[in-house]
Amino acid sequence: MLDTEMLIGSQFVSGKDAPEAVINPKTESTIVSLPDASPAQVDAAVEAAANAFKSWSRTTPAERSGLLLKLADAIDAEREAFATLEALNCGKPRIRMLEDEMPAVSDCFRFFAGAVRNMHGTVAGEYLPGLTSMIRRDPIGVVGSIAPWNYPLMMAAWKLAPALAGGNTIVLKPSELTPLTTLKLGKVIAGIFPEGVVNVIAGGGQTTGQALINHPKVAMLSLTGSIPTGQKVLQAAAATIKRTHLELGGKAPVIVFDDADLSAVVEGLKAFGYYNAGQDCTAACRIYAGKKIYENLVADLSSAAKDLKYNRPNDDENDIGPLISANQRKRVHGFVERAAGQKHISVTAGGKPPAGKGFFFEPTVVAGAKQDDEIVRKEVFGPVVSITCFDDIDQAVEWANDSDYGLASSVWTSDLGKGMATAARLQYGACWVNTHFMLTNEMPHGGLKMSGYGKDLSMYALEDYTVVRHVMVKL
Ligand code: NAD
Repeated sequence: MLDTEMLIGSQFVSGKDAPEAVINPKTESTIVSLPDASPAQVDAAVEAAANAFKSWSRTTPAERSGLLLKLADAIDAEREAFATLEALNCGKPRIRMLEDEMPAVSDCFRFFAGAVRNMHGTVAGEYLPGLTSMIRRDPIGVVGSIAPWNYPLMMAAWKLAPALAGGNTIVLKPSELTPLTTLKLGKVIAGIFPEGVVNVIAGGGQTTGQALINHPKVAMLSLTGSIPTGQKVLQAAAATIKRTHLELGGKAPVIVFDDADLSAVVEGLKAFGYYNAGQDCTAACRIYAGKKIYENLVADLSSAAKDLKYNRPNDDENDIGPLISANQRKRVHGFVERAAGQKHISVTAGGKPPAGKGFFFEPTVVAGAKQDDEIVRKEVFGPVVSITCFDDIDQAVEWANDSDYGLASSVWTSDLGKGMATAARLQYGACWVNTHFMLTNEMPHGGLKMSGYGKDLSMYALEDYTVVRHVMVKL
């Protein structure tokens, strides 16, 4: 049975505003219609979090760590059910959810359970005679967390784990398109954490989300989403000077030098350019290839893209799923059609939605794209990879950096020195050499420029979700 109720304090309640349909993107049918949380319910959730903060903020790291570990175990115990539900709501292959995402989700809680017991910093001492100074790292307050639809459960984990470890309480809103696993997670959390420490509300961005970001008792806003939503969060934050933590989109450049191992590049791009149907802020989607490797890369990547499996009746055979919605498919198709209309571009694989039900889009390669083309500059968020030919290393680096985004990048070469030197010049929060997309809970994930700021994962996230304070004692 689906968990469709929200968690406010210790109560499971249904929303009181207009219902929104939650769609299965593979079949286009409605799974369930869920009413949005009303402004009064958003207020109740924030009040519950504010009340819970009084005692939760004073728990020891060991106490918080213990509950995070319990949560990780509880998620593991239900990993099959979570994977089934996420596959249903997002359309992603269940096997990918089970093997790739579920272990990363529970490990995220385990990492922060350990991390909070291992924070360190400046030593206490007498920096002025007769006065002892010490640094504290304290919780911030109620965190309003807002998540996107591409990795709903994993994004919930990224937001909850460091905030809870740091001693904050939370009101979490999943995307209205994919609320189901987060609502289920609310049920699991309610059996482990004290009342009000975590509250889960469902609803649309303009309505429920806007009420949350405007709430004066929310001390910090954490968003993973698009740039326009990030701008709204910043506007709302200005009213009461809330802290903000923004992870906003990407358009990852991938520099392929002539000396790169072609088959490794193709294998990598087949995996990292199309994973999750390209609905990934780090997707390897903007390729810059050297002159000598360009033609072979276009040919081999096009064959590899055509080989990706995406709407087989046996879900275990699928590499990727559909796009999340009809709107998203229309958006992706629009980008590809406009690109295909340009004389210098050839679409060498895919290019359109296949016939039949589901918001699928063929894995697509757009070859011959130029730096100023829309397909090179804008985030498509679909299974679409563009390839652009470059003359020399300086041009490749200049083009790679010439973007509003700054989240992820990669460099492919058999000369590790060249790879390291190029990585150093790229203005992106992450740069991989001879791979792409690999994340680990110990290492930070976050962007520069309009991709936002604030780090997810790692000790840096724990720093973002706590505040440095100075306490001085006269001796
Ligand atoms: P979106 O901005 O439309 O929605 C994200 C969330 O914000 C949803 O929960 C939505 O309901 C909420 N929202 C929308 N308007 C709001 C408002 N006015 N007030 C409060 N909340 C509001 O983004 P999306 O379409 O769900 O997700 C795709 C975007 O997220 C892409 O741009 C993608 O790159 C980005 N993303 C970034 C990362 C990262 O780590 N940097 C990870 C995943 C996705």
